Amino acid sequence: MRGLVIIFTLALPLAVGAHAQPVLTQHPELAALASQVSPERLRATDTQLVGFGTRHSLSDTKSDTRGIGATRRWVQARFSEQSKSCGGCLEIQTPSESFTGARVPQPTQIMDVLAVQRGTSDPGRVIVISAHMDSRNGDPLDGRGDAPGANDDASGVSAVLEAARILSARKFPATIVYAVLSGEEQGLMGARVLANQAVAQGWRVEGDLNNDIIGNTHGMSGVMDNSHVRIFSEGTRTTETAQQSQSRHDAGGESDSPSRSLVRFLQGLADSYMNGLSVKAIYRPDRFGRGGDHREMLAQGFPAVRITEAAENYTRQHQNVRVENGVHYGDVLEGVDFDYLAQVTRLNVVALAALAQAPAPPTDVTITGAITPDTVVSWKQGADAPLASRGHRVWWRDTTSPQWRFNRQSAGDSLTLAGVNIDDWFFGVSAVGADGYESPVVFPGVTGSFDRIPPAQAPAPFVLGVPPK
Ligand SMILES: [Zn+2]
Repeated sequence: MRGLVIIFTLALPLAVGAHAQPVLTQHPELAALASQVSPERLRATDTQLVGFGTRHSLSDTKSDTRGIGATRRWVQARFSEQSKSCGGCLEIQTPSESFTGARVPQPTQIMDVLAVQRGTSDPGRVIVISAHMDSRNGDPLDGRGDAPGANDDASGVSAVLEAARILSARKFPATIVYAVLSGEEQGLMGARVLANQAVAQGWRVEGDLNNDIIGNTHGMSGVMDNSHVRIFSEGTRTTETAQQSQSRHDAGGESDSPSRSLVRFLQGLADSYMNGLSVKAIYRPDRFGRGGDHREMLAQGFPAVRITEAAENYTRQHQNVRVENGVHYGDVLEGVDFDYLAQVTRLNVVALAALAQAPAPPTDVTITGAITPDTVVSWKQGADAPLASRGHRVWWRDTTSPQWRFNRQSAGDSLTLAGVNIDDWFFGVSAVGADGYESPVVFPGVTGSFDRIPPAQAPAPFVLGVPPK
């Protein structure tokens, strides 16, 4: 029929991130920090790490050109250089412990290299970025053969060093720890050293952003993805007690651990500040049957997430470098997309700055209002209270929604939401600084608190799963 125009409106799929915790105040300085990330510098760092031949935890420690010893001294030297250019702002720590185990036949020192950038007003509050420097080939016990580990996990270490270079030029209220770990491939040992160090030094860890395998864009089955990054998180806390589990069960909150709150926070940042990179939240502690260094932080009761590429390529992980039936195996530089690695690094830089600049998350968040038409949300200011001078923001969302939807600000320490029935919504509270920087949203009770829940007993060593064939 003439004159009739039919307009088809395509139902576009919702962006993956979809403003999980919306960013309500834009900060151009975060975009400026992100723009300083250099793919060329990431490539140079990764190339240097691959140049050590192997970085296996059982490899040579004396050589200056090959093995784990040369690697950790090189990382330490990079941190020292960075510290010189910021007037000594980085304190370098090299905690180590001796391990033996299924993948460590002889007692072996597993040493991490940490750079600590002390916060200006709340140094006890700590944001961690971590990655592991050790590598392996097809044989988990081979400390001699080549194991380039360009993606697993020189990509992550390159991101940590780049973040330290950029962020050490600024000061933040909270402390940032740049953690380059070892012993991951032998059973998350360096991460255990880090977690023990955090406990021993009394750090209030607000989150560990663990970056492991973050640079490949060509997956299996022809998949190519350079516009998403996966972030894995636990829904409920590793260290919650049976009693805490029971109260969470009764009130709901299976998807509101502080680690998952961090993912929503990162999703919001990606939606606001990243051009062409979205966060794909995965509601699992880690990839199926596999483990990563954030698990040791979770086991000590600290919030932690795993950041990893969207499309993994298993022919490039834990393989001897070779060509077989026309297939190239091995974790070599050609498998790293440095423009993509730069994108993931930018997200880390933005997240670290946003977390360290924001006030501490509120504590003691509670809700009341059963058998009334209203909900009362109350909280206490976190440490570094003067920072939270713009007050707090109460958020709520449908119980079936992954994303915070409504919000209302309060200058006090409680807010009554008239006509909002407590049964029908999930609630949370964030702290907002005078400059508009906002903390992650805290779900009520122990379920969502960023305060550490120490494990009831010493955590058992993580049992390595069976890697996919
Ligand atoms: Zn790894």
